[in-house]
Amino acid sequence: MIYVDAHCHLGSRQYDNDRTEVIRRMLEAGVRDVIIICCGRHDLLEGAALREKYPSFKLACGIHPQDLEEDYGDHRLDELKKVIEEYHPNMIGETGLDYYSHPHTKEQQKHFFASQLELAAHYHLPVNIHSRRASADTLEILRQHPCRGLIHSYSGSVEMSRLYMKEGYYISFGASVMFPGSKKPKEVISQMPLDHLLIETDSPYQSPVLGHRHEPEDVIHIYETISAVMNIPAEQLAEAVDDNFHRLFEK
Ligand SMILES: [Zn+2]
Repeated sequence: MIYVDAHCHLGSRQYDNDRTEVIRRMLEAGVRDVIIICCGRHDLLEGAALREKYPSFKLACGIHPQDLEEDYGDHRLDELKKVIEEYHPNMIGETGLDYYSHPHTKEQQKHFFASQLELAAHYHLPVNIHSRRASADTLEILRQHPCRGLIHSYSGSVEMSRLYMKEGYYISFGASVMFPGSKKPKEVISQMPLDHLLIETDSPYQSPVLGHRHEPEDVIHIYETISAVMNIPAEQLAEAVDDNFHRLFEK
C-alpha cells in the first residue's frame, strides 16, 4: 500500500541529525506521497534537496500565519515570489489564519493570507491552509480569492467541512482523530465523502504521544483509526487518499 502524508515538515531542524533514517523508515513503511511544508530558508533548502532525490515528494512554500510578529512588510511577499520562481514549489503553504495562538496579528495574517492566495492563483498552484479558531474569516477570504487545495489538520464542524469542500478544498486529518475523547473529528470523518479526504502527520509536531517527535511513518496509525471510523478496508482508504493526493496536483 502507498500512504500519503499531506502535511509534514521534513526539512525541519528537528530532523537534522537523522533525516536519512527518518526517510528510510517512512519509505519502508510505504509512506511515499508526501507534501513537505517549507516556511523559512533552512527548511526550504532541505526540502528542495529531498524532492530532487525523491520525485514523489512535493514541495510547499509559504509564510506561516504564526510568523508575522516582527516582520510583516510586503517585501516578504516579494521574497516568496522569488522563491516560487527559483524553486518551482508544487504548492503554496502553509498559509492561513491562526487566531488561537496569535490573535494580536489578525490584520497582518489576513493580508498575508489573501496575498498568498493571489500568488497561488497566479502560478496555478494549490494551497495548504492552516486555520485555527478562524474558520469564518478563512472561508470568507477563500471565497474572495478562488483557489484549490487542502485544509490542514482539520478540527472543525461537519457544516464547515461541507462549506470548504463546496469551495473546492480537500479536508486533511491529523493525529487528533486518534485521541480517545475526539468526538468531533470522528463525526466529520464518518460523514466525509472519500474523494475529498486527505491524511497527514504535521510532523515533527502534533504527535499523539507526549514527548515523542512525530514522523511521517506514524501516519499509518492515523490511517488505521480513520478506516475503522469509516468502516472501510484499509486498502480502499489508502487507494482513495492516494487518488486525491494526485488529483490535488493536476493542473
Ligand atoms: Zn504545519
